[in-house]
Amino acid sequence: MNTLQKDIRSIRGIGEKRAQALGKLGVFSLFDLISYFPRRYEDRSRVKPIALVQDGESVCISAVCGDEPRLSRIRRGLEIVRFHAFDSSARVNISYFNQSYVRNQIHRGESYRFYGKMEVRGSLRSLTNPVFEPEDAPFSVTGAIVPVYRLCAGLTQRTLRQSIQAGLDQCLSEVPELLPESVLRDFGLVGAREAYRAIHFPEDFASLELARRRFVFEELFLLSCALGMRRHDAAAGIPLPLPDFEAFYSQLPFRPTSAQRHAISEAAADLASGRQMNRLLQGDVGSGKTLAAAALIWQCARAGHLSLLMAPTQILAQQHYQTLTAFLSPMGLRIGLLTGTVKAAERKSLQKKLDDGELDLVVGTHALLSEGLRFPRLALTVTDEQHRFGVEQRARLAKPEEGGRKELPPHLYVMSATPIPRTLALIIYGDLDVSLLDELPPGRRRVETFCVDSRYRPRLLAFIRKLCGEGRQVFVVCPKVEEEDAESAEAPSGQLLSAVEEAERLRKELPGLRISCVHGRMKASEKDTVMQAVLEGLVDVLVSTTVIEVGVDVPNAALMLIENAERFGLSQLHQLRGRVGRGVHQSYCVLVTDSETKEAKARMQVMCETADGFRIAEEDLRLRGPGDFFGSRQHGLPEMHVADLGTDTETLMRSKEAAGRLLRLDPGLLLPQHAALRERVEMMTEKMNGTLN
Ligand code: ADP
Ligand code: MG
Repeated sequence: MNTLQKDIRSIRGIGEKRAQALGKLGVFSLFDLISYFPRRYEDRSRVKPIALVQDGESVCISAVCGDEPRLSRIRRGLEIVRFHAFDSSARVNISYFNQSYVRNQIHRGESYRFYGKMEVRGSLRSLTNPVFEPEDAPFSVTGAIVPVYRLCAGLTQRTLRQSIQAGLDQCLSEVPELLPESVLRDFGLVGAREAYRAIHFPEDFASLELARRRFVFEELFLLSCALGMRRHDAAAGIPLPLPDFEAFYSQLPFRPTSAQRHAISEAAADLASGRQMNRLLQGDVGSGKTLAAAALIWQCARAGHLSLLMAPTQILAQQHYQTLTAFLSPMGLRIGLLTGTVKAAERKSLQKKLDDGELDLVVGTHALLSEGLRFPRLALTVTDEQHRFGVEQRARLAKPEEGGRKELPPHLYVMSATPIPRTLALIIYGDLDVSLLDELPPGRRRVETFCVDSRYRPRLLAFIRKLCGEGRQVFVVCPKVEEEDAESAEAPSGQLLSAVEEAERLRKELPGLRISCVHGRMKASEKDTVMQAVLEGLVDVLVSTTVIEVGVDVPNAALMLIENAERFGLSQLHQLRGRVGRGVHQSYCVLVTDSETKEAKARMQVMCETADGFRIAEEDLRLRGPGDFFGSRQHGLPEMHVADLGTDTETLMRSKEAAGRLLRLDPGLLLPQHAALRERVEMMTEKMNGTLN
């Protein structure tokens, strides 16, 4: 059996109990153990003369024990061992609480290294509970850069360090080198064995840095291989003849913008090319992405093929269904809707229509991906806000329909209003071509944006009354109240109004207005009923959590009021604001916040100043840092352990290139020298499949 896969209980000192504790950290095999990297390091490598140590400094000293350690019992359950030690510069008082064994390990006249936090009061110096080892012992807990691990109950730093040390001794010689020789050379990376040793027990900070660089590269290389292998077969595609789009444009209720025309012709050429299209359409909220999709669906239908359009939420699918029906059914297209709430009988009849070739487009949620559905003649899949879907769902969209025409995969069109830095988009979406909608339809008025504090509430209420009196509609958005918030002292739940509470309050404050509420805990069908009523003008004020964030279009809405606006990211605020100003009326966005922090103020300022989604995304990155931006699994990629997808972009690009070169030589990683690599890439793929939002 492979030593790397051996159970950790084979290590001396790891019994049932410790193995259980390690299991909680995801550590089962020797390889897991040596792959459990430190969270941080303590620099105990430099030994300082006692006299030079400052108050509060954590430091390593080398000193002689000056008297026999004395044990005193202060009270029941509290014992202290005390002695003093000195070097040539000064002396220090040392005490240990409840560690009476120390008395038998430290002796007068002998030399030790101590590491701990020094307290200095005038000429009095003291160390409490320092770690120590005899001066002549090999460096282990002092005199070195010492790793500090994340622990759980049942483990101590000392046992974990010793176990990892033992683990390395046992299996390091069998750790395979995943990275090809040429990659190591080209990028100046240290080998796997050296790196595993140095990441735990570095000789100095330079070798730690080298080890870290190697693991960042390795992790991103594995990711790049995993993503690359998913698409190495994307090539031939169903050819869809290029139509004359003037026939399409002339039937629209408005003139397409030149950005829309441009984006449509780019994608249409892909569809006609005989190769599979893989294209991302990036456009700010309200830039009219749906129309571009409609044009391609039309092209597809004219060639006798089916299209799918998938949206991340029920409400959005519904709305796309309506919009696309309005555009396309006058042109003779037949359109179906499939969401999670569609009954079995309806599903069956939808499937029959699909089998009989009676549909040109099916709009839906990820219910479209459910087992057992067949889409004969499928040639185009459009996804809206695809980053909200997992990688595996995306992969399924790209698969050819079984029994479909010549097994060719459908073309992929991805629409997104989330401006993603280009390098990251490349990784997430692969070798996507990108079209940009950088122009808003004409006649749009800028959404007037204000930031106020909660003392303005009476005036805001009057404003809501006025707008609703004129027949407009109003959105009020509250942050989601997480369970955690309710308990944490920082955000007492009393200050964070939940959508439900806010709706209650508004009903009292605004008698006579029709006020509804949608929030995440409602069933999809309930949300739908409410949204439908909003679209039909039966609701004056809609209070919600961010469920309305993506895409829903209510042209009559003229005010977006955001409570506790400091709780939202800038990009999110921008998306929310994009929900109004979609009709002919002057629209407003009011950000309510009582936060006095500099960061919150800066963010509100940006919102009031600019309406440019890309600028806002950049500011968001700058103000919140990449960790946050790419956090919460927005991107559908597995969690990285050493790499940071936000900041390690340079390495990301390089590792992607290297992976690309390797996969061109050995697309399936089937060569014997790539066996270990393939195994790890498969693990990465598995992790990705588990990443569903
Ligand atoms: P998004 O890019 O945010 O998905 P939509 O496709 O929902 O934008 O379009 C926003 C609104 O603009 C819709 O009401 C749509 O009908 C309208 N629209 C799209 N293109 C044009 C255009 N060229 N001229 C006028 N209105 C347009
Ligand atoms: Mg949209």
